[in-house]
Amino acid sequence: MSKKNSTKGKYASYEVKCMRCHRPCMAKGTSPDSKMICWRCVMLMVEPPVIKQPVKKEFRKPQGWQFLNEYVDPEGNVYFKGVMQEDLKGTKEATVVVAKPKKRRDKQAEKELQHKTSVEILKLKKRIQEEELLKSEFRKINSEIKRKEKLLKKKIYITK
Ligand SMILES: [Zn+2]
Repeated sequence: MSKKNSTKGKYASYEVKCMRCHRPCMAKGTSPDSKMICWRCVMLMVEPPVIKQPVKKEFRKPQGWQFLNEYVDPEGNVYFKGVMQEDLKGTKEATVVVAKPKKRRDKQAEKELQHKTSVEILKLKKRIQEEELLKSEFRKINSEIKRKEKLLKKKIYITK
């Protein structure tokens, strides 16, 4: 049977006997007649815990690392033109790669270019309508309009 030790609050402790080896073991917050297995028996029942190797932090090799004459990764692996040099492992400082600033799309400039192109198209169309043009001039302007209209339909990306 179990014996009540403390009745203070819900964290009362009781002396409970191990249901396997019948050695007394303390149980916190359980009822006096809860079925317990002591730590010794638990140890015998379960495999020793596998100590997990710390998860390797994934690092990314920089773009084009395999083309560098020498690249040393943060783990000390040395590569000559992308080929690992086993015998040099840990002998060199990791290569510091300065990331290039990412280019951002310049939507404002894209809009401005689009606007500029459509204004130019309008101007050319006006010329065709209003000016007395030679056939050769007309052809030239017409093809210019076609070219610019194609440009308008294309997605042109401008970066900062
Ligand atoms: Zn036990």
